[in-house]
Amino acid sequence: MHNSSKEIDRMRPRETYNKSLDLKKKSAIKFFETYNKQFVNVNCPACGSEGVDFFVKYGFRHKTCDNCFTFWCSPRPTEDLLSHFYATSEAAKYWTKLLIETDNERKSLQYEPRVQHIIDLLNDDYSFDPRLAVDLGAGSGAFSLALLNKNYFDNILAVDIDEDCCKVCKSSGLKTKRGSAEDLDNSTFGEANSDLSFR
Ligand SMILES: [Zn+2]
Repeated sequence: MHNSSKEIDRMRPRETYNKSLDLKKKSAIKFFETYNKQFVNVNCPACGSEGVDFFVKYGFRHKTCDNCFTFWCSPRPTEDLLSHFYATSEAAKYWTKLLIETDNERKSLQYEPRVQHIIDLLNDDYSFDPRLAVDLGAGSGAFSLALLNKNYFDNILAVDIDEDCCKVCKSSGLKTKRGSAEDLDNSTFGEANSDLSFR
């Protein structure tokens, strides 16, 4: 894909984007220094394997899974620490604002090819019958909307820990849940799928 710099500027206005990156870096380093002793070790969120060391960013260690190629942060902040961060961090609020302001452009330029890629991968596995797509960290819901536009999944659930993001998702008509991956369980999937069975 060859996005011109003009298109990239439309997706992420440069000045605000650079400010956001700078804020993220500072707040991540500060957060790590303040709270890392309370972090918890976690296995692969997709398949439960232990994983191997992958990379370190701003102090946060990341692992990758040989089984399913997921990568994730471990040790990572507890749910309470994450909620605290998203409720109070200037960086998180600024990023949310930026997402909401620019996401429609981002959707058309970025998300639709990604959604198609996901669908192509799923179509390769004939034993898999996808009915529900869960968008974790949905932001303004643009990715969920791109999923919805494809009419491939029966149901889409937008999940975000930030209240403002959830409001925007809801206003776009998306099924929305406030929280993180740990707040999801079978009852959540049951609600999202209403009369459909979950597999
Ligand atoms: Zn895995």
